[in-house]
Amino acid sequence: MPDTFKAIMVSRDEDKKQSVTIEDITVDDLMDGDVVVRVEATTVNYKDGLAITGKSPVVRRWPMIPGVDFCGTVLSSSHAKWKAGDKVILNGWGVGETHYGAYAQQARVNGDWLIALPDGMTPTDAMAIGTAGYTAMLSVLALENAGITPDTGPILVTGANGGVGSVSISLLAKLGYHVIASTGRTSEEAFLKSLGAAEILDRAELSEPGRPLGKERWAGAIDSVGSTTLANVLAQTQYYGAVAACGLAQGMDLPASVAPFILRGVSLHGIDSVMAPIALREKAWTRLSTELDAGKLASIATKIGFDDIIETAHGILEGKVRGRVVVDMA
Ligand code: NDP
Repeated sequence: MPDTFKAIMVSRDEDKKQSVTIEDITVDDLMDGDVVVRVEATTVNYKDGLAITGKSPVVRRWPMIPGVDFCGTVLSSSHAKWKAGDKVILNGWGVGETHYGAYAQQARVNGDWLIALPDGMTPTDAMAIGTAGYTAMLSVLALENAGITPDTGPILVTGANGGVGSVSISLLAKLGYHVIASTGRTSEEAFLKSLGAAEILDRAELSEPGRPLGKERWAGAIDSVGSTTLANVLAQTQYYGAVAACGLAQGMDLPASVAPFILRGVSLHGIDSVMAPIALREKAWTRLSTELDAGKLASIATKIGFDDIIETAHGILEGKVRGRVVVDMA
């Protein structure tokens, strides 16, 4: 008999009413894949909050083990790239949405989805970064590809206290950028400044409908908020600036005009972490392993246990979670 282990399972009844349970399962209950990984650390992202609460249709196969990120050790593999004992990271690829995910002590996945844990990084570090931090790095890469440098001007980070926001601030500050942090939690000014923010902006300044073009205030932005905020961010981006759009914490809509694009040459770069190609992921994780300050990462991360995941998933949607959450699966 294979060993049993704990898994969070979300299910739906005939009336599409969602329920969440903690179950004992075995490796035979997992979905198909060519690599079995012992999950040592995971995290709770905004998306995981949506999956567990059912607030948005993240889960597209029922029942489902949620959790879009994990780090652990390969237990068995028939994939050419991986062998037992390898330390691996998984972010996205539909795991926790259409394929059983991270909230179980073992996961069976397609080996093509895995990347090696960078040298010197622990599973806890990797999950303190998680999809949110890797998305922050993809956003920084997008700004760099658009020619934005620390000399071009300040960079705005919206959703500053969130996972994407807090890692973005740390990365940009380390790279020498002047960072403006937009937040609804101005009481967290000291925390945001400790990460490297030079200025704090009350998010209320950006969240209501504004003019199609405003005063030029920043050379670029990393926006995890979307909606009216993103429209205002674009309207206040300087000539030939660039904005990386990666989130929708305020909303999925974008009530903007083309004015910033056609009158100021501003560019808008979409960021998708879920299906990003392996080469881009490896580049992002290599940069994260060398450019993210370990002390700042530790100050961003809060450790929880497996039994705290469900409550934290609710908290993240209520804006109660600061920075990143690491789940110790031991
Ligand atoms: P968090 O919940 O950790 O952070 C979101 C932050 O947004 C909050 O901390 C808050 O910051 C701010 N915020 C929340 N609600 C509102 C609102 N109504 N109006 C304005 N600001 C708000 O989430 P993550 O950082 O993990 O993710 C951020 C977004 O990015 C999510 O929408 C997520 O789905 C998306 N995402 C996208 C990815 C991709 O591949 N494109 C990958 C990862 C995440 P504060 O309190 O400082 O104001």
